[in-house]
Amino acid sequence: MAVNYNGKTVSDEEVKNVLEAISEYFGKDVNVTSGDRGTALSIGAGSKSLHLQNRAADFHVQDYDDATAYLHIKVFASQFFKTGERYEFIWHGPHTNTSGQHLHLGRSGSNANGYVKFLKEGVTSEGSGVYARDAVMQMVWSARSDSA
Ligand SMILES: [Zn+2]
Repeated sequence: MAVNYNGKTVSDEEVKNVLEAISEYFGKDVNVTSGDRGTALSIGAGSKSLHLQNRAADFHVQDYDDATAYLHIKVFASQFFKTGERYEFIWHGPHTNTSGQHLHLGRSGSNANGYVKFLKEGVTSEGSGVYARDAVMQMVWSARSDSA
């Protein structure tokens, strides 16, 4: 099991740490489909995207559909996310208005009131293009151990 970057660059070390923890938890490969977009590739993309700040990655977990992986990551959030970091975690579902179904992880920064914002987009046809807040969790405690 490993995080496969598939030629994509993910500059944010904390985003990479979360992907590693996801790979370890599932015992599966994490396949990254998009990472940094702070380049000419960003033309036409949403200006608020954390990809443009090189702080995000899109991915799938090997052998898990996105819905199941999303649920596990939400329920066991303290396995993956650290205290004092601000993340967004998005399930782009079958009706997504992005380029295809995927999971998205971004990190917007660090502060004492870190949190994980769980969002769903395109899970239903009515939800296409709508970023619906699913849950916001503050990690008051984290079980994540970053292996060397
Ligand atoms: Zn993304």
